[in-house]
Amino acid sequence: MGHDDAQGIVAKALSDWPSRLAVSVPALAVLALGITILTGWVTGERSLLLAVKGLFPMVPPTAIGFIVSGVTLFAALDATPRRQRVRHIGATALVLLGFAAATLQVLDVHPAWLDRAFVHEELRSLDAARGRMSLPTALAFVLTGLLALTFDHPGDRLRALLVQLLAGALLALGMVSLIGYDIAPEALVPRYRLGWMPVASAAGFIAIGVALLGLIARAGWYGAVYERHEDEKILILTLGILLLVSLAMSTAGLSLIQRNLERTVRASLAQAVSDRTAILVNLMQYRITRASIVSTRPTLREHLGRWAAAPSPQVAADIAAEGDTFLGSGFNGLQFQDPEGLPIAASGELLGPVPLETPLASLGVPASLLWNQAFYLRARVPVVHQGKVVGHVLSEQVLEVLPRLQLDVAALGRTAEWVLCGAEKIRMACFPHRFQPTPRYAPMVEGSRVLPAALALGGRSGVVNAPDYRGEEVIAGYAPVGELGLGVVLKIDAQEYYAPLREQFAQWWKWLLALALAAALLVSSQVRPVAQRLMASERLARDQAEELGRREKMLRELYSSLGDGIVVMKPDGTIEFTNPAAERLFGFGPGELIGKPVSLMIPEALREANARATQAFLAGEKSKVLGQRGLVFAAQRKDGSTFDIEFSLAEMRQEAGLPRLVAVARDVSEREGLVRLKSEFIAKVSHELRTPLTAIMGSLELLREGDMGEIPEPAKGFIDMAWRNSERLAMLVNDVIDTERIESGALAFRDMEFELGPFLLEAVELNQPYAVREHATLRLVEPVPPAWLRADPDRLMQVMANLLSNAAKFSHEGGAIEVEAERSGERVRVSVTDHGDGIPEEFRPRIFEKFAQADSSDTREVGGTGLGLAICKTIVERLGGEIGFVSSRGGGTTFWFELPASGPPP
Ligand code: ADP
Repeated sequence: MGHDDAQGIVAKALSDWPSRLAVSVPALAVLALGITILTGWVTGERSLLLAVKGLFPMVPPTAIGFIVSGVTLFAALDATPRRQRVRHIGATALVLLGFAAATLQVLDVHPAWLDRAFVHEELRSLDAARGRMSLPTALAFVLTGLLALTFDHPGDRLRALLVQLLAGALLALGMVSLIGYDIAPEALVPRYRLGWMPVASAAGFIAIGVALLGLIARAGWYGAVYERHEDEKILILTLGILLLVSLAMSTAGLSLIQRNLERTVRASLAQAVSDRTAILVNLMQYRITRASIVSTRPTLREHLGRWAAAPSPQVAADIAAEGDTFLGSGFNGLQFQDPEGLPIAASGELLGPVPLETPLASLGVPASLLWNQAFYLRARVPVVHQGKVVGHVLSEQVLEVLPRLQLDVAALGRTAEWVLCGAEKIRMACFPHRFQPTPRYAPMVEGSRVLPAALALGGRSGVVNAPDYRGEEVIAGYAPVGELGLGVVLKIDAQEYYAPLREQFAQWWKWLLALALAAALLVSSQVRPVAQRLMASERLARDQAEELGRREKMLRELYSSLGDGIVVMKPDGTIEFTNPAAERLFGFGPGELIGKPVSLMIPEALREANARATQAFLAGEKSKVLGQRGLVFAAQRKDGSTFDIEFSLAEMRQEAGLPRLVAVARDVSEREGLVRLKSEFIAKVSHELRTPLTAIMGSLELLREGDMGEIPEPAKGFIDMAWRNSERLAMLVNDVIDTERIESGALAFRDMEFELGPFLLEAVELNQPYAVREHATLRLVEPVPPAWLRADPDRLMQVMANLLSNAAKFSHEGGAIEVEAERSGERVRVSVTDHGDGIPEEFRPRIFEKFAQADSSDTREVGGTGLGLAICKTIVERLGGEIGFVSSRGGGTTFWFELPASGPPP
């Protein structure tokens, strides 16, 4: 594996970890949950099962389901063939497990092995330990398995949506179960019969739901579904959060109300139960005391003593007569027995066999509680005479007060009743109560739960939510009745005591719905537009950034591929940017010039001038180079060698900060060399031409003057033509030589001060003859403003001669030419105006170029070389001035030049 590959894998793992964590943490939690519970079951360690509230009711199959889920979720993290196999097997197992458990629930089958499998002996007696998984739990496992199976085919939009909905449903199921477990939905919805999954299972499914959503995120399915709907996503998310928060808050409120209600009901139930057990104990003890009073009556003891000594019918009659005296005071029957227990006599009527009888303990004598249309207490008390047991009194008393006591619970509630039971081997014998007129025997366990009466008989007391003998959900207070061996249960139907809560709930869900609706409206009207705007602006920003990036790349490619060097600098000459061509051109390495002064690229000799120009520019003066193109300068490479560059400088104004100067340079050493060679050649040729030309002209002059004798008429014409052309040739040669000398700097410029007026007058006078020859007149417009020029008067005269001769040449027959001077401040403008045809539009831009003539045909009426104006321009600019013209078709032409002027000298 290459270094890059390894780096790529590390980078991927790093970018991967949040989603990996989102899946593996909940998966680990689920796995731990399942293993903990299962370990608890197998080892019988109750603390493992009871570690968390509600863990215990989770049954072994559910624990196994969670273990399989955890493994499957882990396997789904990556798509290697092995993991895929594990995931498939796990998912299939979950589906099967769920189906099997659901079937058991729906058909209400309870195979015996469920009770035994995994269940340690001690755990079997605990509540809810009967091994069957609740229906929602079973369905949740089926859902988990199906979802884990679908992770084979990512990308399909519909499938992605479905998977997300199902994962959401699983999450919701867990949440609802958690809430349901907490607020006992049977309290809210009467006769609610769907089994609730235990808290731990609910938590487990929430974790599975989270892990599945994490897997969906990893598979990139959110993208497949929500690609272009970020604002909708925000909307849904906001709504979801709002709903969740309001749900959680209302649930918390509701559960608080419920807690309070239950606390009150429980407290009052516990109090009522303890009151009643106290009354019952007192009642029984009082009645036993009454039975003892019979046995302690002296006459009765005496009669029984006599019977023991000598039984006789008379003694029996005496005993019966004695017993009859008790019948009025609550005893309905008395039987007197000898020490062996054989009856001697009886008073009143004893009950025969009764529908229900339960023994009472701890009263000191054998006693029992009976039911025969009324409650009876039966007791057998020994009779002692002179230190010897002489017999027994078996008495039966009606307990009229008991039914009355049973009825007084009506104050506690419409469905309130209390039940009195005794143990009867493994069953309970329960006496009639408010809504149950006949006595009955009942089992101690209903479904998988121990009945409260059985708990009371076991000596425990408390308050529970439990089913009662009818299978109805009740809240029941229970307690043993002293040591009597009786249990009391005081209960109210859940339906009744939760009624206020139900009323609240009925209100609550309407409010919640209204709230959710209002929230939805608010969110979609307020949040959505904001989200949309946000998203739109984000999209725009992204698009713009992309576009910018594209453009920047293009620009970079452009200036990198450019043959011309580009240098961007600050106005003070600090280099900010160079393109590769510039670096190549000047022999520097990449980036080497950044931050350096531009003078590095300028030859020593020119640096000072450059520094001065820069200074002037910074001081706000107009630069002479800025905006010019095709300027040729000498430049210097890194190694100190110099070369020629063609150069243009432009100003780049940015919105903020100082402007930047952009220089574009091209190596023109070769071209410049050629140009130089050419002009040198021309100059040399011109010089060489001048000597023979002078000779030719001299000869022609002599011929024309007639010094060589009379020349025949036809020959004269030829000589004239030769003269004219020689003159033209001489002019050309002079102009070429002038041009070359000016350009090469060989022409020295004098520097002197002279007055403008006389100068112009002289110019007009000197050129008048030529103008006259061209049938035009020169005129100086007076007065000439007083001004002094500092220049070379000879060169300036050359300019005047050129402009005046041009004006004369291009004037019409008899045209006037005005020479005029104007002064404005420190400058003087001299203009020469003719009234000829003007300069053709298309020619104007080229007029100052060398050899430029509007009419380049050989049949021109006027002579000229096309060099005159180029020379004028060079001279005027060398003198620090400017030259230009104004011309209109047919309206004549004005050529002007401007020079710095000073006032009259002191
Ligand atoms: P030339 O020696 O040919 O006059 P110049 O450089 O002096 O060379 O002038 C170049 C051309 O400019 C002329 O040939 C002519 O076409 C045009 N030109 C110059 N001055 C004038 C003018 N005053 N009126 C019209 N055209 C003019």
